[in-house]
Amino acid sequence: MTAHDGMYIGGAWRPAAGTDTIAVVNPVDEQVIAQVPAGTAEDIDAAVRAARAAFPGWAATPPAERAALIAALRDQLVARKDEIARTVTAELGSPEQFAQFVHAGVPIAVAGSYAELAASFTFEERIGNSRVLLEPVGVVGAITPWNYPLHQVVAKVAPALAAGCTVVLKPAEDTPLVAQLFAEAVHEVGFPAGVFNLVTGLGPVAGQALAEHEGVDLVSFTGSTAVGQQIGATAGAAIKPVALELGGKSANVILPSADLAKAVNVGVANVMNNSGQTCSAWTRMLVHADQYDDAVQLASAAAAKYGDRIGPVVNAKQQARVRGYIEKGIAEGAKIVAGGPESPREKGYFITPTVFAEVTPDMTIAQEEIFGPVLSIIKYADEDEALAIANGTVYGLAGAVWAGTEEEAVAFARRMDTGQVDINGGSFNPLAPFGGYKKSGVGRELGAHGFAEYLHTKSLQF
Ligand code: NAD
Repeated sequence: MTAHDGMYIGGAWRPAAGTDTIAVVNPVDEQVIAQVPAGTAEDIDAAVRAARAAFPGWAATPPAERAALIAALRDQLVARKDEIARTVTAELGSPEQFAQFVHAGVPIAVAGSYAELAASFTFEERIGNSRVLLEPVGVVGAITPWNYPLHQVVAKVAPALAAGCTVVLKPAEDTPLVAQLFAEAVHEVGFPAGVFNLVTGLGPVAGQALAEHEGVDLVSFTGSTAVGQQIGATAGAAIKPVALELGGKSANVILPSADLAKAVNVGVANVMNNSGQTCSAWTRMLVHADQYDDAVQLASAAAAKYGDRIGPVVNAKQQARVRGYIEKGIAEGAKIVAGGPESPREKGYFITPTVFAEVTPDMTIAQEEIFGPVLSIIKYADEDEALAIANGTVYGLAGAVWAGTEEEAVAFARRMDTGQVDINGGSFNPLAPFGGYKKSGVGRELGAHGFAEYLHTKSLQF
C-alpha cells in the first residue's frame, strides 16, 4: 500500500497540522518503508470535533443500518486480506502465513461478529416497572499498540460503531500503515463523514492529547501498564469511563495428569508466535517436580526448531529490552536451555527463541512482562504451590491449565486470578470476553461483553 501523508478526518484525507513525520521501519531489514504524519494536539482537536459533530446522527441511525455497514466493512477487509497481511508483514515483520491467518483473519472474524451482534442486539429491556435504554456512550478515543495492529483497532472500532458511538483512533507509531488501510476500508464502505477518524502520531503527543481531550467521552486503551496507569488517572480526574487492556505474565499450568508433550509443545508455540509479542502469552510454564526434567527437554527441543522463522521483534528498542531481560535471567541464576541473548542474524531485530529452566517465581524474568520469545519454566511441588505461583504476579490477563480431565483443569482454573484461561488447549473464541484482573486492565473486549463497554444505561420508570 501507499502511505497517506494526511489524517483521515470528517470523511476525507486532510493535510496534517504540522510538518513532522514518523518513519515506518521494516524490522526484518531495518529499511524505512514509509513516512506518516506525526499528529499534534491540533489534529486531535479537529478529529474530535468531527466525531462530535457526527455523533447525534450516527447514534440515531437504526441499529440494523449500522450493522449493515459493519458487515460491509467486514467484506472490505475480506477483499483486502492479502494487502492487510502484506502490510503487517512489512511494518511488524510478521511471517506471511501468520499475517494471513492471524493479523488479517482475526479482525475479519471480529468485525463479522459485531455485524451479527449489532443486528440482533436489544437496545431496550424491561425491569419491573422500568424500561432500560442502552445508549451509545458518545465519542470514543481509541489508542492501540503495534503487536496485533489491526486486531486491536477492530476490537475497539467495530463494537464502538455498532453501538452508535463515533471514534477517533490513534494507532501505534510502529504500525500506522495497516491503520491507514483500515481507514481506506471505512471510507470505501461509505460510513457517514466523521463517524470514524484517524490521527497518526506519537503516544506522548497525539495519544496524550486524545486521552486528555474534553470532547472525548470514553477512552479505550490497549498498551503497556505504565501508560495505562497514566490514562486511567486522567480519565479518573475527568470522571470518564475508561477501558484498559494492559500487560500480562500468564501461567501455563501443567498438572501431573496432563498429556505432558502436548501441553509443552502447545505452550512453547503460544509463547513463540508473533515473536512473543502477545500480551496474553503463557510466558511462565509451571511443571510438577516429577516431570520437570522431561518438560525442560521437550521445551528446549521445541524452541530450537523455530530458529529465526518466528520473525523479528518490532524495533531496535524492543530487541534491546528483550536481550536485557535474557541477560538479567542469566545474572539471577536461571539456566538457558535454548536460545540466548545473541541475535540469530546480523540485520533485523531478531531474538533467538529462548527457554529458561531453574527459574524461581521471584526472579525478574518470572515477574515482569518481557514481550519477546522467552519462556520461563518453573517447578512446583503440589497444586497449592502451583496456584500461588500462577497468581503471584501483579498481572492477571490469561493462562492455561492442562489436566487428565476437563473437570480437573476447570477446578484449578476457577482458583486463578485471571481473565481468560484455555483448558487443555481450547481454541480462540472471538466472542469470549477478553481482559484482565489486577494490573492487566479494566473492562473487557470482544463479544457482547466488549459491546457493553460502549453503552450507557438509562432507566425510565412507569
Ligand atoms: P505503549 O503503552 O507504549 O503504547 C500503546 C499505545 O499508547 C501506542 O499507540 C502509543 O503511541 C500510545 N501511547 C504511548 N504513550 C502515551 C501517552 N503518554 N498517552 C497516550 N497514549 C500513549 O505500549 P506498546 O509498547 O506499544 O505495546 C506493548 C504493551 O501493550 C505490552 O505491555 C502489552 O502487554 C500491551 N498489550 C496489551 C494487550 C491487552 O489486550 N491486554 C494487547 C496488546 C498489547
